[in-house]
Amino acid sequence: MGSTVTVCEFVCGALLVALGPALLRGQDPSASDEVQALERQRQLTRTALAAEAAGELDRAQAAWAAMLRVTPLVPPPFTSGDPRLLVLAKARALRVAVVERATATAAAADAKALGKPCPQCAATGVLACVVCKGSGLAEVRVGRQLKKEKCEPWEGCPRCRGSGRLGAEAEATRLLLRLSTVAASEAARKDPFTAVRNVLKDLKAPLPFTLAWPVTESERLRRAAPRIPFDADTLKAEAEARLKVAWSDASPLERRHFLAAHALDVSAFARALDHLDDGTDPPSLAQVEREAKPITLAELEAGAAEPFHAYTTTIVVGAAPVGAAAERALPLAGRLFVPDADPRLVEFTAYAPEDLEAFGALERSGFFPAADRLVRVYPPRAVVKVLKELGEGVSIVVTGRIVVPRRGVPACVFEVWRAERADSGGGRK
Ligand SMILES: [Zn+2]
Ligand SMILES: [Zn+2]
Repeated sequence: MGSTVTVCEFVCGALLVALGPALLRGQDPSASDEVQALERQRQLTRTALAAEAAGELDRAQAAWAAMLRVTPLVPPPFTSGDPRLLVLAKARALRVAVVERATATAAAADAKALGKPCPQCAATGVLACVVCKGSGLAEVRVGRQLKKEKCEPWEGCPRCRGSGRLGAEAEATRLLLRLSTVAASEAARKDPFTAVRNVLKDLKAPLPFTLAWPVTESERLRRAAPRIPFDADTLKAEAEARLKVAWSDASPLERRHFLAAHALDVSAFARALDHLDDGTDPPSLAQVEREAKPITLAELEAGAAEPFHAYTTTIVVGAAPVGAAAERALPLAGRLFVPDADPRLVEFTAYAPEDLEAFGALERSGFFPAADRLVRVYPPRAVVKVLKELGEGVSIVVTGRIVVPRRGVPACVFEVWRAERADSGGGRK
């Protein structure tokens, strides 16, 4: 703490020196504003340094970010140049540290809950029957004829006792065993859509961890299935037929693996979007446009926007259109690739029509009760149309809303509610 106080005192000293002439001018109202700004900067600096010394990176980051909203800022001691740039750099660096810590925390929580994959059954919980190889039918010789007879397609793995994991926590084991059991019984159904729906219904809500099913045995079915999440209500006849054909060709073992894999994927999808359901009603487009305040990408990345959530803003960025491939935390189709943005700090997202279909499927599966309310007022086609027309590498102005993912990764999501070409300057040719 001793060194922290010293640094604060240095800051105060520097501030007083900088403000000296203004104070001497007496009752100038701008001078009293400056004194207030000075005091605010001093308090925030003290908070930031104390929090960082205590390892409270979130609090330190918030204090530096709050300083970006103080004007005027005076240069910290032993520095020259624009103090805003220094504060921006500090706020950004801390935000990167916060998001990296959140990423590591989430990974550690999953690892703790899930233990290790069972090597004996390749984490699937079952061993294919050696006689029928998972097909459920074995050839038996009756006299001089070969006949097909029913045969158990698999047996439970003796090593992990069916959960597919070793050293997992009791709750995760219970959930995985339950999923495994339901997937096994639904694998016998004629209609894949009913089977998929029943497995999701039984799961009820996203699992408290993110896990991908190993791609064994179920690859053909996965390739035949539409983008997740889906349901029969919104699928085109062609897509529906493709999955049905693949399903009827598949062995019970393949079906079981597919159902479990699909449920885990849908669970992960819903979990990645759970921050969207915060119980509040989303704004209208008119409200978003009315309340938008300009902000730069650097400020956005540094966390300078306030208040978070249901907050709207505008920004000018170089951007590529929807669909540009990039590593993203959010599993949405409405993508906006901003080359200069650090995807750990901000992701630009629009909802494409297929995202709305996915929200609908999630809602009907019971995984995302607020999905419809959330997207009802969002203008997906208008936004996506503009983004596609603009093409890659042009400067655009986006207006939207900032939302904060629950587990802190990425640090924030910019929901794009309106996009248009920037009139002048800043183009990336
Ligand atoms: Zn068998
Ligand atoms: Zn096993």
